[in-house]
Amino acid sequence: MSTTTKIYELFPFDNTYARLPEHFYARVNPTPVTKPGLVKINGPLASHLGLDPAYLASPNGIEILAGNRVPEGSEPLALAYAGHQFGGWVPQLGDGRALLLGEVTDADGLRLDIQLKGSGPTPFSRMGDGRAWIGPVLREYVISEAMAALSIPTTRALAAVTTDETIIREQTLPGAVLTRVASSHIRVGTFQFFAARQDVQGLRLLADHVIDRHYPEVREADNPYLALLESVIARQATLIARWMEIGFIHGVMNTDNMAISGETIDFGPCAFMDSYHPDKVFSSIDHMGRYAYNKQPEIAHSNLACFASAILPLINDNEETAIEAATGTINSFSDHFNAAWSSGLRAKIGLAEEEAGDFELAQDLLHRMALNQADFMLTFRRLCDLPGRTEQNSAHTEASVRDLFHNPESFDGWVADWRARLRRESRGDFERQAAMRVVNPAYIPRNHLVEKVITAALSDDFEPFENLLAVLSRPFDDQPQHAAYQDPPRPEELVHQTFCGT
Ligand code: AMP
Ligand code: MG
Repeated sequence: MSTTTKIYELFPFDNTYARLPEHFYARVNPTPVTKPGLVKINGPLASHLGLDPAYLASPNGIEILAGNRVPEGSEPLALAYAGHQFGGWVPQLGDGRALLLGEVTDADGLRLDIQLKGSGPTPFSRMGDGRAWIGPVLREYVISEAMAALSIPTTRALAAVTTDETIIREQTLPGAVLTRVASSHIRVGTFQFFAARQDVQGLRLLADHVIDRHYPEVREADNPYLALLESVIARQATLIARWMEIGFIHGVMNTDNMAISGETIDFGPCAFMDSYHPDKVFSSIDHMGRYAYNKQPEIAHSNLACFASAILPLINDNEETAIEAATGTINSFSDHFNAAWSSGLRAKIGLAEEEAGDFELAQDLLHRMALNQADFMLTFRRLCDLPGRTEQNSAHTEASVRDLFHNPESFDGWVADWRARLRRESRGDFERQAAMRVVNPAYIPRNHLVEKVITAALSDDFEPFENLLAVLSRPFDDQPQHAAYQDPPRPEELVHQTFCGT
């Protein structure tokens, strides 16, 4: 028997969400589009899912990816959910422009959702058209694939197609459909949907589904639902720390945009920081800075408190007992986050051993970067190349970092402390540098690069999209021929605001 993964021409669907009760979703087919056109198939991801990339790129495949043909075995569903949006409660949201085609199992045996985004209206569309334009489709494609290459838990992009239809937003724009892959699309808001309806049976079915799918180990716990809460908190706390390590700002951390699986989901007005500042906000709709870079941990914490509150009836029949147990668990968020964030920062500055004062040393660097508008990505990447344990540095290498600071002396003050600390590490410079270079990327999807991709796509030029994807697929490798992709934006290229683009 061959040991190679079987490549199916069609999707080998095995749909478990569609077996849950009918009030968990609405069954609705995608709305066909005028003329589907291929932008991109993610070949490696397709193969990993056991799908034939050539089939997906064929006319039949493109019809499926545009929603013009429902493939065999698919049971298209718009999932019901609710959520707190910017703190305001919305009892019913749901997939208004997305449809779950079905679930497949990947080469590692993991169950994954395949979802079309921009595939037409559903009963949850409210006033929306159920469509997406090419901008947000390419943005999500580039950023989710960049996150995956950075080894950050995330939904993936399997394909992007155009529709030859016009989408009306502030202006008229070309339509597109993204095919998204996620380990599931269950959100904090999905639990809130059932909790708000006091549907304890629905809640239990959903929680059991989530445990089977994402957290099977909690089955063994004395109280599996409390253990589920603890595990969701731990994964989410780690995820937020990972975002912050690479300067990522999600931008719209409503409870309906937080996946229970611990994956990054719903790339709306998200952004990567160029120059560092803890209060950075890019989203055009986030006027109060609610979802600013440094607010992300506390927002995650409060979203998880919403999750805890939703599953209280599962934790204990007695509400007071349930609240007491859940509160203790929710309070563990800060410990989980602080541990992840501090070990992430220590790795970024090349510390393998742990000493009191390490976190403060890293914070001191961030503080000086903020005061001096130093570029987040370049500062950490170039720090990798600095000789650490000796003063015998080449002036050129040293200048490459200090020149990123408005006042280079501010960096000099820090680097002396850093060197003093590195001398107490048993690891040598060479080993430290190699370790730093796999946590401090050389390439991130800077906002101005993403904007250029979108602008070119509006003139049917997808080359910048392809080029950027290729560079970002190896974010930790030096790619001298693509050095320009490392550069911060010139003043005229600076992106000050990002848009939801729904
Ligand atoms: P999001 O901005 O992706 O978090 O979406 C918030 C809610 O609005 C979700 O229920 C979406 O399905 C819905 N939504 C966003 N854009 C559209 C659209 N163009 N048509 C219909 N529903 C939409
Ligand atoms: Mg959303």
